[in-house]
Amino acid sequence: MNYDVIICGSGIAGIYTALNLDKKLKIAIITNSELKNCNTYLAQGGITTVMGESDKKAFIKDTLYAGGNENNLETVKLIAEESERNIAELVEMGVPFNRDKDGKLLYTREAAHSKRRILYSDDQTGKYIFLTLLKKLEERVNVDIFEEVEILDLLVTPTEVYGILAHDKEKKVFEICGTKVVLATGGIGGLFKNSTNRRNLKGIGIALAKKHGIKIADVGAIQFHPTAFYDPKSERRFLISESLRGEGAKLRDLDGNRFIDELLPRDVVAAGIEKNKKKSSSPFVYLDATHLDHDFMKNRFVGIYNNLLKNGIDITKDLIPVTTSQHYFMGGIQVDMDGKTDLKNLYACGEVAFTGFHGKNRLASNSLLEGLIFGKRVAESINKKIDKNKINKDCKRKGRLEQVDIEKIKSENDKSVIDEILKVREDLKDEFSIGR
Ligand SMILES: Cc1cc2nc3c(=O)[nH]c(=O)nc-3n(C[C@H](O)[C@H](O)[C@H](O)COP(=O)(O)OP(=O)(O)OC[C@H]3O[C@@H](n4cnc5c(N)ncnc54)[C@H](O)[C@@H]3O)c2cc1C
Repeated sequence: MNYDVIICGSGIAGIYTALNLDKKLKIAIITNSELKNCNTYLAQGGITTVMGESDKKAFIKDTLYAGGNENNLETVKLIAEESERNIAELVEMGVPFNRDKDGKLLYTREAAHSKRRILYSDDQTGKYIFLTLLKKLEERVNVDIFEEVEILDLLVTPTEVYGILAHDKEKKVFEICGTKVVLATGGIGGLFKNSTNRRNLKGIGIALAKKHGIKIADVGAIQFHPTAFYDPKSERRFLISESLRGEGAKLRDLDGNRFIDELLPRDVVAAGIEKNKKKSSSPFVYLDATHLDHDFMKNRFVGIYNNLLKNGIDITKDLIPVTTSQHYFMGGIQVDMDGKTDLKNLYACGEVAFTGFHGKNRLASNSLLEGLIFGKRVAESINKKIDKNKINKDCKRKGRLEQVDIEKIKSENDKSVIDEILKVREDLKDEFSIGR
């Protein structure tokens, strides 16, 4: 199979890249599960937008404050500059962001944002963005979508990438050749025992980068979300969005006392919760939303309300047991401002990429925004740079595909990501779900 552009990943970064590529290019999108099994679909709280010229400075300040000033200022400024243009496109495409009765967009607040600047669709923002983007994608005749196709390796010459090695659900191994390859494979949560992420996200981008000597950065920068629902039976931790705290929910210890300012940055609140759990020898603390208006809660947080009700908890009456949980990967494949990696023809965007935007701690709702902006930048760079003469070149055969041991490669890939993290985060040694 031959394509101009192969995009690995069907979250916001992958799909928005595809939508911004020249319609004349032949594009493949592959995803290792059903299309919707990405973290984008799970995003609850919202997507940040900069609210006019006067908000740019404050947005930059808030992002740097949350990131402990370890952010790349060039990236933060670039995102501040390009946020409104990209968000306007989402609005134009018809994402059903919440509006007031006069049709004006509503904004919510989350921890460490100095003002309300987050657009949301109830508490299922990611799902509505994903469905809107997917609808647009389905109108594109130049895009082939391959579900349940998993990337195992990159096809490379000593100087460039020219495709991918993959397998389908029948365990058939095949090569796809492409003039450009985009990794939009998301985070690493599937490697952890406790994570809010989809289980199919196992840091494949990091494994492939390591294998081929592509630069990675900050692999120890892993965000634990303060408030995931404590349910020892569940495989994936269900997130209780920060916007609940943004709307006034309080954290309480087992005796009902508040112990921290709920709107401090995520890493600070998470550390406070861990300290409190240790003190009371409890695997959870409580989140209390019972004092908030009941009708407002049921409508504004409809997904959380219904999900927890199924678990016997009515958030308008009951305290919610919560704990910290692996949530987001700030490290990734090092890219430049066009999403280019240091291997020719290979791009990366979204959670798999390291742009330096987040510093040591991501500001709430900044991740979807980064995926959007860098998805667009990757596409614009490819549109400019793609060599039309190379299009549909013949695939260079790599060997005998029937001899490829899928399970061995997958397990080596997982292990290599975990080993890389443990080099700098020995403290996480008991957190992984997969043996070393
Ligand atoms: C519960 C939850 C709530 C969140 N809430 C918010 C929020 O409110 N606001 C915000 O800004 N951020 C939020 N985030 C973070 C945000 O959702 C993600 O960082 C963002 O969606 C990442 O987008 P992406 O396109 O990079 O990756 P994803 O959307 O995760 O997509 C990754 C894609 O890669 C594919 N893939 C992975 N490995 C392979 C492989 N080996 N072969 C083929 N395909 C592969 C997957 O199938 C998937 O299609 C939340 C995250 C979670 C988990």
